[in-house]
Amino acid sequence: MKTHAIIPIFIPHNGCPNDCVFCNQRRITSRMASPTESEVRQTIDEWLTTLGEVPNVSVAFYGGSFTAIPIEDQKRYLRIASEYKDAGKISEIHLSTRPDCIDNEILGVLEHYQVDLIELGCQSFDDGVLAAVKRGHGVDAIYKACELIKSGGFRLGIQLMVGLPGSSFEIDVKSALLAGELRPEVARIYPTIVIEDTELLDMVIAEDYVPLTIPEAVLRSKEMLKILRGYGVNVIRIGLKASDLITGDGYLTGTTFHPAFRQLVEGSIARDEIEKQLVQQLRLAPTEDTIAQCTAAPKSFSNLIGHKGENRSYFVEKYPNIRFVFKEDKTLEEGKYVLIRTQS
Ligand code: SF4
Repeated sequence: MKTHAIIPIFIPHNGCPNDCVFCNQRRITSRMASPTESEVRQTIDEWLTTLGEVPNVSVAFYGGSFTAIPIEDQKRYLRIASEYKDAGKISEIHLSTRPDCIDNEILGVLEHYQVDLIELGCQSFDDGVLAAVKRGHGVDAIYKACELIKSGGFRLGIQLMVGLPGSSFEIDVKSALLAGELRPEVARIYPTIVIEDTELLDMVIAEDYVPLTIPEAVLRSKEMLKILRGYGVNVIRIGLKASDLITGDGYLTGTTFHPAFRQLVEGSIARDEIEKQLVQQLRLAPTEDTIAQCTAAPKSFSNLIGHKGENRSYFVEKYPNIRFVFKEDKTLEEGKYVLIRTQS
């Protein structure tokens, strides 16, 4: 049974003074209305009806810059969530915001309304990248916000983007390392997507920016995921869902979007793990009847096989003299992949 669920409430930042090159909120603001209080209540009630007995339900105000909207609007929305929390209908309140929109005064308001977790859209820990995407602040603002959030007793989330203008494999990986050192509770990894109505699309057309290919984005995200996990961070999202994209017309222009991006990344980790063990075990030369039994916990089995079975095809084609068998093993931990060599 599901133990935790999030009710997402999207709060657009109408009139956002910033101009991040990858964001289309400013250009399509006129088409996006902030939800009314009754709409927020209705959304929460509908979700609660659907979620039934899920024990831990969070209401999360997303949109990127919750603490940058007028304070009275923040209070209106938070008051609603707080009422649901007091009534025991939800257990937590989350929100996402920009690092430079956190200060002690704002945190005082968030504490008053019982906010539990604050996710910061950090995007990169590199000043050159933050400048290239016109983020409007530097890395120092990220460190300051993280410190305030943690010392204020809130739980911290960090969102990172992959493949932004001015970045590189090394810079993205270093961002994951620096983020991990801050020990956030949760993190999200978002490959940069070029969407309609953005300056980033203008940059692509002017040939000032080349989006990552899917394999490049998978490679970088995989390394970042491994680093963050190494710090014990729960990476709750890798890649956007189509429904996350505020495209106005609902379609994409970029090439880096993949609806099963997380599975591509997790599948790539599984493939590396199995291949590492295979190479070690093949030091004992395979015979004609060698069987490589690849195993994973039931929850990780689809990652073992890979998206559309691509890991299975990969091994069968690369090692034609070995017979591969893919099996679930309930005794294994989620995310562990074990290869057992046998003979038929
Ligand atoms: S991503 Fe940047 S431009 Fe878009 S709403 Fe957030 S701060 Fe404003």
